[in-house]
Amino acid sequence: MNAEITCTHCSTALELVGEEDFRTGGAAGIAAMFLGNFNQLSEGILALQMYRCPQCGHVEFFLPGR
Ligand SMILES: [Zn+2]
Repeated sequence: MNAEITCTHCSTALELVGEEDFRTGGAAGIAAMFLGNFNQLSEGILALQMYRCPQCGHVEFFLPGR
């Protein structure tokens, strides 16, 4: 599935920024801020696709391969 994703705030089509790698595990790191429950996974690298809204700057992350 790769349907167009729209912003949850202003319904503008989100732009794919690219795939970002986040460290998982531990209390620190940007992944902990966005994905609290992923902390329960063992430490590793989590790749997420980052989309941003050109209208309002809202950012969303998705797991690749959805
Ligand atoms: Zn927006």
